[in-house]
Amino acid sequence: MKITDIKVYIVWEGRRNLFVLKVEADDGAYGWGEAGLSGRELAVEGMVKHFREWLIGRDSRKISALWQEMYRGQYFEGGRVISAAISAIDIALHDLNARRLGVPVYQLLGGKNRDFIPCFVTSSVPPGDGIVENVQSLISDGWKVIRTGIGHPKEEDPMLFEPRESIALTSDWLVKLREGVGREPVLGIDYHHRLSVAEAASFCNSMPRGTLDFIEEPIRDESPEAYESLRSMTDIPFAIGEEMASKWQYMPYIERGLTQFARVDICNIGGFTEAMKVAGWCEAHYIDLMPHNPLGPVSTAACIHLGAAAPNFAWLEERSPEPGFHFSPDLFPQQPRLEGVWHRVPDGPGLGVEFNEELALKQTFEFWEAPHFRRRDGSHTNW
Ligand SMILES: [Mg+2]
Repeated sequence: MKITDIKVYIVWEGRRNLFVLKVEADDGAYGWGEAGLSGRELAVEGMVKHFREWLIGRDSRKISALWQEMYRGQYFEGGRVISAAISAIDIALHDLNARRLGVPVYQLLGGKNRDFIPCFVTSSVPPGDGIVENVQSLISDGWKVIRTGIGHPKEEDPMLFEPRESIALTSDWLVKLREGVGREPVLGIDYHHRLSVAEAASFCNSMPRGTLDFIEEPIRDESPEAYESLRSMTDIPFAIGEEMASKWQYMPYIERGLTQFARVDICNIGGFTEAMKVAGWCEAHYIDLMPHNPLGPVSTAACIHLGAAAPNFAWLEERSPEPGFHFSPDLFPQQPRLEGVWHRVPDGPGLGVEFNEELALKQTFEFWEAPHFRRRDGSHTNW
């Protein structure tokens, strides 16, 4: 039952690097995990190397105790790199133990509340020409919850972002979109924390009530006080929390009513151990989970088991812009498959994912850096 090895595979998969981690034990059991700090995979790999030094030889069944030891075993507590590494190891330990017991992971989390995981999709056309038709085609495919990206006037420089120009165009098109699809579909937007408080307030208040059912990340999340200020200026529900790396980061957002959906990222928050605590805390405040899931099949599978076990669940992010997208079946011989607009909760042992290590060894990490956006005046702004 002792941990014998922890292996990391960072593979470029066409859009981003996937950080896949394997924990092995001396009884032959193994499990897969994934870390979600996209663009900083080498730092997370370094953190895993530190943990590996002392995790080898430890009892693989003591998931909660190992989480505590990883988190508390250092003077400089917390941080996104540490939590991403803990997340991958924690997810892998859940997969490993569930496989060993011959049960699905959700069985370790209290059993399942649902048989299917409802998903939301992101329109492949940003606010602008063609968005109404694009969302209407998603609706005709059965999607009931649709999120849009950010609109911006066309520029020669793809790294240019001007918030006020984006707000004007985006809000106009969202009004047209709501008129075009009617009241029933759930419509949201991910503003990818590109705005200030004043800009976000202008955006939210430039549309009639009922245009949007949620706005995701209008501003950055370092300051709950800034969100408190924005919360008082608009009544559009917020969907916040995909960058958060602990229950303590979530605490003010839950307790002060600053978010109405929890965008928990199981590959960054600290794995199942931490995500279930955030879920319970959210349940007490009538906040539903809307997990962030832009990564690979291990992340999707982990979100499915989290969504099965948590009673308070809204929708899982389905990878966009290609609904039904599958990762290479050679690299992931077993992976979650979307059925219509939801995932069926699997009943096999573990997460329900297999990864081809031999093939992964032939694939390489590719350096990738998120876009560095600039304003017209030359200053930097958020991606
Ligand atoms: Mg987002």
